[in-house]
Amino acid sequence: MTLSFRRAAWTIVPGSAVIGLLLALRFFPLERPPAGTLRIERPVMGTLWSMEVDHHGRPEAARQAVEKAFDELRRIDALMSEWKPESPLSAINAGAGREMAGVPQELREIIERAIRYGEESEGAFDITWRGMGRIWRFDEQFAVPTRAEAAEARALVNYREIQIQGNRVGLPRAGMAIGLGGIAKGYAVDRAGLILSEDGFSDFLVAGAGDILASGKRLGQPWRVGIQDPRGERGALLGHVLLSGRAVSTSGDYERYRLVDGVRYHHIIDPRTGWPAGASISVSVIAGAAEKTDALATAIFVLGAEKGMALARREGVEALLIDANGKRHATEGFDRYRTTR
Ligand code: ADP
Ligand code: MG
Repeated sequence: MTLSFRRAAWTIVPGSAVIGLLLALRFFPLERPPAGTLRIERPVMGTLWSMEVDHHGRPEAARQAVEKAFDELRRIDALMSEWKPESPLSAINAGAGREMAGVPQELREIIERAIRYGEESEGAFDITWRGMGRIWRFDEQFAVPTRAEAAEARALVNYREIQIQGNRVGLPRAGMAIGLGGIAKGYAVDRAGLILSEDGFSDFLVAGAGDILASGKRLGQPWRVGIQDPRGERGALLGHVLLSGRAVSTSGDYERYRLVDGVRYHHIIDPRTGWPAGASISVSVIAGAAEKTDALATAIFVLGAEKGMALARREGVEALLIDANGKRHATEGFDRYRTTR
């Protein structure tokens, strides 16, 4: 039996700022949510979010739970945004080279977990990548940096230099900065899911663009999630995975990028070179929690097939990687989630 694309449950659209939002709005599912389910879509953190809940006859309670979950996303954004000058994360960045900032424990803890992903990935995942944020900005002001500029910015990147004392966090050198764009969205997906569960709903999907948590069932079946073909039209899929009680994240080079003289400059930066990572074009990771899939999709993307798939195995997650030549690499377990249905 085959289902047409319009019946596809979800298309993974890796998130981004404004452009991503517009594109995501176009390519989120066209079908209406089925009877008995509630779906609400809204922009938060510069990307489109969607939550779908099987309300089991309690539509009003489900609506309230979803509202609470969206409040939670906004709370996390206010705490962890590197773009909001008033956020506690921005306080850390503003104090770089001068003073440590006292921050809420929750922020200190996600920074510690991010540092662990840095260690596990031998520095491929590095939240201090943000020190290169000035040269790798994907707005109208984008210009290809010179090698010298990239080298200079790269010298500001090293997660090992993050200082933590109790709930005070600091960066020792002026110009250093932390950006949680590779992990915070996954964390927010998990938190939104927790709120829906605590309110008594167990069949739901939370999607923050490319970071998705699928809990329970949809109409009695596992959730069916489409994976974008990184070089196809938007909405063209590599295939589908069936998920229940699992998260999936996709990192791609096709969501936020600039093409200059035929070269693609995209938003996942290899901290070792200071340049956009070139080994992969798309990585999808499946695991129990979205924070983990989010961080590892980014890390594996940077590492490329050989080291990236080794990292996936060490971390006990399933991964699908499309390398720069379009060749497919997958863990055995990943293919067990795939479906032709
Ligand atoms: P998206 O945010 O589009 O879902 P990813 O989860 O792959 O994509 O994360 C990419 C984001 O992570 C970038 O936009 C940037 O904020 C941040 N980032 C870029 N390079 C790195 C890196 N090497 N390590 C950690 N975070 C990174
Ligand atoms: Mg990520």
